Amino acid sequence: MIQITMPLNFLGTVYREIRQAMIDMSEMFDLLEQPAEVKDAPDAKPLAVTGGEVVLDDVRFGYDPERPVLKGVSIRVGAGETVAIVGPSGSGKSTIGRLLFRFYDVTGGAIRIDGQDLRAVTQESLHAQIGVVPQDTVLFNDSILYNIAYGRPDATRDEIEAAARAAKIHDFIRSLPEGYDTQVGERGLKLSGGEKQRVGIARTLLKNPPILLLDEATSALDTETERDIQSELKAMGEGRTVVTIAHRLSTIADADRIVVLVKGEIVEEGTHAELLAANGRYASLWSRQAAELPDDEPRLAHPGKD
Ligand code: ADP
Ligand code: MG
Repeated sequence: MIQITMPLNFLGTVYREIRQAMIDMSEMFDLLEQPAEVKDAPDAKPLAVTGGEVVLDDVRFGYDPERPVLKGVSIRVGAGETVAIVGPSGSGKSTIGRLLFRFYDVTGGAIRIDGQDLRAVTQESLHAQIGVVPQDTVLFNDSILYNIAYGRPDATRDEIEAAARAAKIHDFIRSLPEGYDTQVGERGLKLSGGEKQRVGIARTLLKNPPILLLDEATSALDTETERDIQSELKAMGEGRTVVTIAHRLSTIADADRIVVLVKGEIVEEGTHAELLAANGRYASLWSRQAAELPDDEPRLAHPGKD
């Protein structure tokens, strides 16, 4: 009897672990709507980040070859710079983020980090160097501690708490009956959009990557919470290369450069002040946002999910 149940228990454990790993992977892919279709080149090397310069060089891409989504996009984000991508829904902003993470390969042109073509480096090393704060942070069915530590499983408890503090979620966690051991996710405590986003920010702070990708990073937050967390995002961007995709123009006005993407093409590029002075597409988006909100927080006409 013992001889039979022992291996069964063992198999049960292995099965549960494999199953959890699969759930984690599928949730990670969902995170950025990713089909796992890109493979490492046979001679792929680890990405060596020196400064963190990100270059999109005449990038062309379509999910469907018949329908181009990006039609020759060139953007250079210097080491430590913050570049914001703005534009109407469906213009290809999130697609740029997915390509930077190499969820897909470009069909023309190239993306390079510190001179290395993404197709020539291992995905593991690429993903280790880029921190993503997505629109909707996915929580795993596990403790809040596990959810923050996910970006760096070897982190110490002190490091995890420091990240949570910086993301302004530590006090909330401490107030829960089970603190950091509280189960969250589908089968646990349901967190609000703002709380989930703070967990996502804490996770990224802990991972401490040289390159950050923020896709509508504060969209799930109300205006006040957003204003609150915006300073944390800004602090997180210090000394890193940041590509930020935003709907609320007010959150990116101080970016080093703003790129306006319309239907897969860059129509304008400059600082907030330059683009306002140019009185073109950006200026009209800006004044439309300003006009449509009675309060002081301008946003685009359709702040939907995109
Ligand atoms: P944005 O973030 O600027 O709103 P996206 O990059 O999400 O735009 O989308 C650009 C275009 O690509 C849209 O027309 C969208 O419908 C299409 N698209 C986005 N994701 C997919 C996908 N996984 N499969 C097919 N088409 C997609
Ligand atoms: Mg988008």
